[in-house]
Amino acid sequence: MILIKEKMTFNIKIFGIVQGVGFRPFINRTADAFSVRGTVANKGSYVEIFAQCDLETLEKFLDAVKKNSPPRSTILKIDVTEIDEKNFTSFEIIDSTHEVGDIFVSPDISICENCKQELFDKTNRRYLHPFINCTACGPRLTILEHMPYDRERTSMKNFQMCENCAEEYNSSESRRFDAQPICCNDCGPMVYLLNSAEKNLDAINTARKILVDGGIVAIKGIGGFHLACDAKNFDAVKRLRENKFRPTKPFAVMFKDINSVERECNLTSAQKKFLDSPQKPIVLLKKKSATNIASNVAPDINRLGVMLPYTPLHLLIFDLPDDITNFPDALVMTSGNPSGSPISIDDEDAQESFGEFCDAIISHDRKILLRADDSVMDFIDDEPSMIRRSRGYAPLPIYFDLFPNPSSLFPKLAIGGELKNTFCLTKNNLMYASPYIGDIGNLKSVDVLKNSVCRMCDLLEITPEVVICDKHPRYQSSKVAAQIAKIFDVPLVKVQHHYAHILSCLAENNFHDEVIGVSFDGIGYGDDGTIWGGEFFICDTKNYQRVGHISKFTQAGGDKSARECWRSAISMMKNFDVDEVNLKLNLTTPENLAGQKFLLKNNLNCIESTSCGRLFDAVASILGICNVATYEGEAAMKLQSCAEKSGQWSVVSGQKNFSLITEKLFEEILTRRLEGYEVGALARFFHEGLAEIIASTCEEIKNSYNIKTVALSGGVFQNSLLTSLTVVKLNLHGFKVLLNKMIPPNDGGICIGQAAFTF
Ligand code: ZN
Ligand code: ZN
Ligand code: FE
Repeated sequence: MILIKEKMTFNIKIFGIVQGVGFRPFINRTADAFSVRGTVANKGSYVEIFAQCDLETLEKFLDAVKKNSPPRSTILKIDVTEIDEKNFTSFEIIDSTHEVGDIFVSPDISICENCKQELFDKTNRRYLHPFINCTACGPRLTILEHMPYDRERTSMKNFQMCENCAEEYNSSESRRFDAQPICCNDCGPMVYLLNSAEKNLDAINTARKILVDGGIVAIKGIGGFHLACDAKNFDAVKRLRENKFRPTKPFAVMFKDINSVERECNLTSAQKKFLDSPQKPIVLLKKKSATNIASNVAPDINRLGVMLPYTPLHLLIFDLPDDITNFPDALVMTSGNPSGSPISIDDEDAQESFGEFCDAIISHDRKILLRADDSVMDFIDDEPSMIRRSRGYAPLPIYFDLFPNPSSLFPKLAIGGELKNTFCLTKNNLMYASPYIGDIGNLKSVDVLKNSVCRMCDLLEITPEVVICDKHPRYQSSKVAAQIAKIFDVPLVKVQHHYAHILSCLAENNFHDEVIGVSFDGIGYGDDGTIWGGEFFICDTKNYQRVGHISKFTQAGGDKSARECWRSAISMMKNFDVDEVNLKLNLTTPENLAGQKFLLKNNLNCIESTSCGRLFDAVASILGICNVATYEGEAAMKLQSCAEKSGQWSVVSGQKNFSLITEKLFEEILTRRLEGYEVGALARFFHEGLAEIIASTCEEIKNSYNIKTVALSGGVFQNSLLTSLTVVKLNLHGFKVLLNKMIPPNDGGICIGQAAFTF
């Protein structure tokens, strides 16, 4: 007897990151391999498959789907139901239809190895094509207008595919099967120099000449323009600094390849892995002592922000086979924007913002629809510690089940903080953090914030039912939040800044129980109207209680007190003869000093503060490391560098002489400094002492509240030395320690914390 295997039809829904990562072609190939008939379609929120086969084949097919799914995809859930038999004669990809649901937008992906090979293969028809891409690589979020992800809903819609490209696009054998941004030298976008007739390879050649000669070139990338110059040319870097009004803030450097990185920096295998990952973030690496990178690229800092080329255009800038043989292997690559403003994404804005001083602007006609700055990552004890989560990561959702109560699953918009702004949209258990917006201090940033909120709501099809913002009464971001809440006619909820930092850490760690939250940062609005920034909380996702803080001091001088480190130092010298100290350490001019004393004495322009950032400022000032900061976090970064450089870690004896308060720690350091102790050792002592204060304060809290988990968050914990020392000490006290890893501990993570607040 012959057994006829019964054919059945199944409806399969695959949820996850399954758009823009070559998922449909992969399904097609897999179906062919198992002789499964049917269809696959993008549904926006999921991929839908109709599969006709027997049960046994179905199992094998699904196994293969799970096991071999494309490297950039993530399957979160597969639903299978049997349906009435349909008639299929083959397997094919059908056009996308649109349905509303949990949407996964793919981030932008750096050029893959295969495309890189083809780019420099003379026999390939995409030889030197600046926009080469495939199903595994290329722009995604930044060119996307709407979901589902299809060419007609991207900025590639203006480019008609040529016959050859169309053939590849439609062939399941091709690496570019169903690749939406597919193009070639015949049909793709075009590179050009602004204000010049030069195009494509000629334009790139000219840009290279300018760079070799020490000039400045603006280069349009994936998420915006960069300003570039030779990173080993001191004068070129100097000129860029002068024109960008950025005196000392470190510049990131793009190296030609991993070998050139290794010549200048030390890197661990974990760092190497991230540096060369498809996301291609900027990774902070320790500079070698004998580096050839110009000293003014990252002055007085022992680290360098390093990235690798991630677009074909970057590769061509480094390696175009032309008449230039001495092209630098490292370029400064800094965001193309006036300091503090959002990154420029179109020619008009580029021309206006830096056309004056750039020797050339190299652009192209593939529109950037959404900004995405480079992501920046540091490492703490060889674990990643995100500083800026943007290109390559946004808007991948963060999954968390912190909302056990289904009524709190309504869609939210968390607008974030004022500095390093990102915002976040939530739907069900998913939090979609936006790319980096920047500092919401100026009108342009406010506009970009508003536009990006609209675009992301649109892309993700989320209509917020509540808007969340910071408690600060004067934050522009909070004003924007209030406006948006009004437009949607939904409630506005405010979350305290430092509590939000801890919430971001709880969300990232998917942690539900009560913790001791140590929230240290620069400045935030406290519940009592004073400035907070060195806080100890008892909290969970619903409630918080401030149970401790670092020593209070008086912040005098308004906004200036955040930049002029010496002001905080003077404020903390209550038990010293300030004039005498200033005479010895030369912190500021006698006039400035007199002014500050006057403010303090008469309580003018003074506010009570527990800002840990200002404590770092004060210590950096008395150690002669930084008296006036030109960028946020400068004093802390330099202090850390100085501590790490110091070989003498235990010069200071009797480390526990200060009675575990920051005021005493400061006074002890000042005393030692006046006695002539080595600055590096004192910087190290400060880090050790602060870590000790955190650990013993947590111990005290544990004794009263019996909580054994500590969450560390806030911008101060970007300091890998402090964090590492603190974790060691807390572990010695028997604590479990939660840290941020892929969500920044700085204000870039505030939106995630706001969204995690449960009410
Ligand atoms: Zn590729
Ligand atoms: Zn083509
Ligand atoms: Fe903060």
